[in-house]
Amino acid sequence: MPFLDILVIITEDNEIVTDIFSKDTDTHMYLNFYSNHPKHVKLNIPFNLASRIITITSTDILRNKRLEELKAYLKKQHYPEQVINYGIQKALTKGPIVTESRRSETTEESSNNLNKIIPFVTTYNPRDYDIFSFMRQIETNLHKSERMDKVLQKKKIINSKRQSKSLKRYLTSSKFDFNETVPIVKKCTDKRCMTCPNLIEESSIYFKNGKHFTVRQNMSCKSSNVIYSLICSNCEEFYVGETKNELRTRMTLHRQQTNHEDLTLIRANDHFHRCSNGRFKIFPLYMVNRQNDFLRRKKEELFINILNPGLNDK
Ligand SMILES: [Zn+2]
Ligand SMILES: [Zn+2]
Repeated sequence: MPFLDILVIITEDNEIVTDIFSKDTDTHMYLNFYSNHPKHVKLNIPFNLASRIITITSTDILRNKRLEELKAYLKKQHYPEQVINYGIQKALTKGPIVTESRRSETTEESSNNLNKIIPFVTTYNPRDYDIFSFMRQIETNLHKSERMDKVLQKKKIINSKRQSKSLKRYLTSSKFDFNETVPIVKKCTDKRCMTCPNLIEESSIYFKNGKHFTVRQNMSCKSSNVIYSLICSNCEEFYVGETKNELRTRMTLHRQQTNHEDLTLIRANDHFHRCSNGRFKIFPLYMVNRQNDFLRRKKEELFINILNPGLNDK
């Protein structure tokens, strides 16, 4: 019968035998010896795992069998034989974890000490110069300052390492941020704004041709330096354009059709006039970070290639 990591077996002679229990899915992938962790952490792993075996297994045969298995698992993770044997030997000498001597060693002392120590925390990096040895050297000097002496009192400064971020920790967030909002397009709500009534307030858009795009920044009619889309209110065919001005300024130019230099727009405008009495919806797609005409036009090109709008010149 398994219970936590203990397997309880009742033998034919009605004796109770306990063994380490591990699920079939357990791959015994202990921390790789070459992993970027402080030495003492890795040196302690064989000891702790061996201690667990010694504590849980109730017969010598089982104990030795499990210890042999442990050796094999650790070797697979590149632990040197010496380190493994040392850990196991230490665990055997110390005995099972539940004994009084080992318990007092861990609980009482440490709680007593907790108020007497100040951890000096640095992020672990094997390439760093050992700053803590320097701390030791200046410790007496620190006490010479009245203010520092008050802070330190008789407390002991201990060396403490923070685990450096792994690639996974850089890429994933452990925090669950409820305030985190999805980027969205919003009207500027200015009463005089002629763009607001036609602006689509969404975080993503589905175009007529099945193409889909989700915005990555918050944008409004007041956003400038943007790639935008205009969608015909009648047939939903669409156009993709760019502007360095505020979107709403650009839309005014659109409506008045004064910007005759911009030939690409003329075809789209023609369509709106014929198809929907000049009515169209506006949805900004992307805001270019830098005020750079070249960059913005390249982005526009990219969007046209990907979204394949029906009202742009091919
Ligand atoms: Zn507006
Ligand atoms: Zn149309």
